[in-house]
Amino acid sequence: MANTPYPQSYYAASANAVPPRPVLQGEVETDVCVIGAGYTGLSSALFLLESGFRVTVLEAAKVGFGASGRNGGQIVNSYSRDIDVIERSVGPQQAQLLGQMAFEGGRIIRERVAKYQIQCDLKDGGVFAALNSKHMGHLESQKRLWERYGHTQLELLDERRIRDVVACENYVGGLLDMSGGHIHPLNLALGEAAAVESLGGTIYEQSAAVRIERGANPVVHTAQGKVKAKFIIVAGNAYLGNLVPELAAKSMPCGTQVITTAPLGDELAKTLLPQDFCVEDCNYLLDYYRLTSDKRLIFGGGVVYGARDPANIEAIIRPKMLKAFPQLKDVKIDYAWTGNFLLTLSRLPQVGRLGDNIYYSQGCSGHGVTYTHLAGKVLAEALKGQAERFDAFADLPHYPFPGGQLLRTPFAALGAWYYGLRDKLGF
Ligand SMILES: Cc1cc2nc3c(=O)[nH]c(=O)nc-3n(C[C@H](O)[C@H](O)[C@H](O)COP(=O)(O)OP(=O)(O)OC[C@H]3O[C@@H](n4cnc5c(N)ncnc54)[C@H](O)[C@@H]3O)c2cc1C
Repeated sequence: MANTPYPQSYYAASANAVPPRPVLQGEVETDVCVIGAGYTGLSSALFLLESGFRVTVLEAAKVGFGASGRNGGQIVNSYSRDIDVIERSVGPQQAQLLGQMAFEGGRIIRERVAKYQIQCDLKDGGVFAALNSKHMGHLESQKRLWERYGHTQLELLDERRIRDVVACENYVGGLLDMSGGHIHPLNLALGEAAAVESLGGTIYEQSAAVRIERGANPVVHTAQGKVKAKFIIVAGNAYLGNLVPELAAKSMPCGTQVITTAPLGDELAKTLLPQDFCVEDCNYLLDYYRLTSDKRLIFGGGVVYGARDPANIEAIIRPKMLKAFPQLKDVKIDYAWTGNFLLTLSRLPQVGRLGDNIYYSQGCSGHGVTYTHLAGKVLAEALKGQAERFDAFADLPHYPFPGGQLLRTPFAALGAWYYGLRDKLGF
């Protein structure tokens, strides 16, 4: 049987040691079968276990194999589409509820790290960097918007102040969010998996769900076993494939790439990001970066629609890094990898239920580190019969990609090309 390893990322190379996990063999019975051990699945499992459910997690590869173990590690608040867009597309009551939840994911991560003593290099402070005055105007209105929802740990940075937090000449200002921050994402996932097991949950690795038998007593089949459950949570996101055709039809996996430099040394690292905050710029096709605990620069950017793996990641991302930091021209790149996130047409997450007992959350469209932690809580609430917050997400309108499965990639790439051009021209 295939044994799928982690990609050769900096995160896999610096992961905390974990015990080997079993492959599912034979039949088990549980209350909730969770498909996928990324943040969505692990957060759901943890909240359910804390509420007394029995939980079995099936992971096709290894814990954090997907986006959760490969991402930029940036704790970014709110959703990939901000609350003002939600306010315009849904009624005030639903918008209010979703707005109130927009900053909860980051709090959940911090609670998890503290409660379960997770070693994942958690640091506070994230900066949105403006490349032009239009971006700056957007950040000013974002600050006002977030403050309306009670999120007050924000500070606008002018052109002089932003130089204190990032040594990049390209920015005209920014917004500092002290409740943002960064983590070693794979170690966060591994720590959450250990917490799941400490509460009596079981995680099977190399155990892909290959078929779901739906009905009053659903059964999830793997190659060598099956799980009988009262409820199923589908949390496979961009790696789910066609296991649940209804979910594949309304979303699109996209790739994004990350590189990691050799250790820079304390002095050089401090000149780049003196306060060790993470940074993302305000472009539609955005660049994001931060320092690791051993003072490397992790730099990500770009999107491959349809999630094909690019042949030479360094050739795509290194020029972006050098545009921000030309002083790194002689620094070696030690790691380069790609990962998939799931795009929806609205860029808002898709949450819902299929039949009476199959729940799902997917498609946070880029910013998912905080949202997925919230999603786990909201799904667990729904299973406990408190569905108000679940319904606020489930009622968000969603549309299929134009062109269906065949043409959605070229259409989305065309849209991205248009936005990329707008980024380049600065409007
Ligand atoms: C390169 C990259 C950089 C990113 N950077 C950031 C960032 O800095 N900040 C931010 O907020 N967001 C970022 N994101 C997005 C964020 O990482 C994701 O939104 C989030 O991790 C998604 O979590 P998830 O649990 O829903 O999915 P995943 O983490 O992808 O987990 C899904 C899991 O399900 C498993 N699975 C799939 N199908 C099956 C099956 N049939 N049976 C069993 N298991 C299955 C997969 O193997 C996988 O482990 C980034 C994404 C990528 C790819």
